[in-house]
Amino acid sequence: MADEAPASPIDCKRCTGRARHGNCTRPEAAGLIPAGVGFGIAWAPEGHAGDCPAFDPAPVPDARPYRLDRIEGDAAHAAAWDDECIERFELRVMALRRRGFVELDAEDLAERMHLADVEQDDRGRCIQCAHLAGSVPTGWRCKAAGMAGVVNPLPLALVTLGQRCGGFDLAAPAGSFRMHCGEGSSSLQAALVRARGQGEQ
Ligand code: SF4
Repeated sequence: MADEAPASPIDCKRCTGRARHGNCTRPEAAGLIPAGVGFGIAWAPEGHAGDCPAFDPAPVPDARPYRLDRIEGDAAHAAAWDDECIERFELRVMALRRRGFVELDAEDLAERMHLADVEQDDRGRCIQCAHLAGSVPTGWRCKAAGMAGVVNPLPLALVTLGQRCGGFDLAAPAGSFRMHCGEGSSSLQAALVRARGQGEQ
């Protein structure tokens, strides 16, 4: 059964000392077994973490790892987004959703791609590359690992990162990557209609 989310920031579920099965890996320091016993398997009672001398909070994972910071956000929105920018953003979000990213992460990543357009950053991301296989739940593989000089499987942190890769091959629909707002694309509208259609199937 899945762990319930901890109700309080001071909870054994948030402690680095909590083992996978919920027992404490530091029972003596935590006062769960008598001092000097040396070894024991113990589960902390409800509310124990509040007074536990061994409580060591685990770092809280970033809930929005791809979110632009304020300066980046200002740069991404310095110019009003025209229809093409919005359509390109939608396309990217849909492509990322199909790769298993949750809605917020897909939107944050698409916004990050827009910022790259604005800054004319020529680095690509694996998630925009035709050689990438996989998804968030299944993991990632580069189909051109030899050419790219990478080892499979690829970590999520790499596939979302802007980088210069010798194997990078721009994929559609994120193929709008190098078209900046206002440059125009007759195929963008058609791609968006197609992508929307796929999403509805
Ligand atoms: S070729 Fe490069 S950019 Fe493309 S998926 Fe492989 S490692 Fe990523």
